[in-house]
Amino acid sequence: MNGKHVKLYIPGPIEVSKETFRAMSAPMIGHRSSDFADLYQQAHPHLQSLFGTKRPVYLSTSSAWGVMEASIRNLTAKKVLNCCGGAFSDKWLDVSLRCGKSAEALQVDWGRPIDPVALEEKISTGEFDVVTVVHNETSTGVQNPLTEIAGVLKKFPEVLLVVDTVSSFSAVPLCVDELEIDVLLTGSQKALALPPGLSLFTVSEKALARAAEIKDRGYYFDFLEFEKNAQKFMTPSTPCISLIHGLVWKLKQIHDEGPIERFSRHEKLNSMVHQWVESHGFEHFAPDGFRSKTLTCVSNNLDIDIPAWISEMRKRHSLIINGGYGKIKGKTFRISNMGDETEESISAMLNALSDTLP
Ligand SMILES: *Cc1c(COP(=O)(O)O)cnc(C)c1O
Repeated sequence: MNGKHVKLYIPGPIEVSKETFRAMSAPMIGHRSSDFADLYQQAHPHLQSLFGTKRPVYLSTSSAWGVMEASIRNLTAKKVLNCCGGAFSDKWLDVSLRCGKSAEALQVDWGRPIDPVALEEKISTGEFDVVTVVHNETSTGVQNPLTEIAGVLKKFPEVLLVVDTVSSFSAVPLCVDELEIDVLLTGSQKALALPPGLSLFTVSEKALARAAEIKDRGYYFDFLEFEKNAQKFMTPSTPCISLIHGLVWKLKQIHDEGPIERFSRHEKLNSMVHQWVESHGFEHFAPDGFRSKTLTCVSNNLDIDIPAWISEMRKRHSLIINGGYGKIKGKTFRISNMGDETEESISAMLNALSDTLP
C-alpha cells in the first residue's frame, strides 16, 4: 500500500463513494433504542421493494457466507442439493459437508449455467429437502436462469430454495414472492457499493417452519431469532450500525435514481464492457444468453500476461481489474461494472485497459 487511491473494478469489494463513507460516520446509537428501530425502518420498505417481497428483510452482521452457512444449518433435515458451477457455488457444497449435513452436487462445468431439466430430474428422486443456487456466479460471469430454476422448485413444495444474489442484487430485478424463493441473500460489498460486513436476507414462512424443527441451529445465525427481532426492527445481536447508516443512504440514492433506471444503467455499462472485449479480439467465458449484467468474465484467448497488465494499469491509471478466480486464475480476467459507475467512468476505465494492454 502506498496510500494512493486505487479504484477497484474487481467484482467485489468495489469502489465506495465519499458520500457513503460520510453517511457511515453518523454518531453511534444504542442498538436497543428507538433510534435504531427508526434507522432499520427507514431501510425496510426500500429493501422489500428490491427483494420483491412483503416479508421482513433481515440484517446480518456478517459477510454473505455467514447467511449461506446459516441456510444450510437452519434448513437441512434430509439432504441438500448444491447446484455447482463455479468457485462460490462449488464451495457451498464444501460448506454443507463441513456443517455435517448430507449433501450432493449438481455439477456443471465452470462457465456453464445450471440446467433446470437436470435439476428437476435430481429433485424427483425425493432425496433432497434443500437446493442452493448462486444466481450470478461471480467467478465465471454466468447468470443462472433463476425464473426457470424457481419454476422447477414450485413443483416440489417440500424442497426449499436458497438463492445467493451476492453479486446481482440491486443491479437486476428480483422477485422473492413471485418466484417463491425461500431464502434470498446478498452482501454489502458488491453491487450495493458499501464496505463489506453486512448481509441482507429474507426467509419464507415455510422455511421458518422447517427451521423450527431443526436442532443445533445455534444462536448467532438462528433464523427464528432474526424473525422475532425483525418484527421490532431489531437484530439478534449488536449489528454493524455504521454500515446500516451507509445502507440507508445508499437505498435512498437507489430510490432517487429509480430501480428500473439502475437496472438499465447496469445493463448499458455491461454492454460497453462487452463491446470492448469483442473489439479487442477476446472471447467471453460465459455463453450468450447467460452472461452476468454486473461483471464480465473474459477468456484469456490472446494469452496475455495478466498480472503484468494489471500491475501496469495500477501504476499508470490507479485502477485494477481482477486476474481470474479459483481454478481459472490466469485463464480469465474479470471486469466489474457494478455499483455507482457511469458511462464516463466505464469509458475511462476501458481506455486505461486499452492503453496498458500488453
Ligand atoms: C462475493 C461472493 C460471495 C462471498 O461473499 P463474502 O462476502 O466473502 O462472504 C458469495 N457468493 C457470491 C456469488 C459472491 O460473489
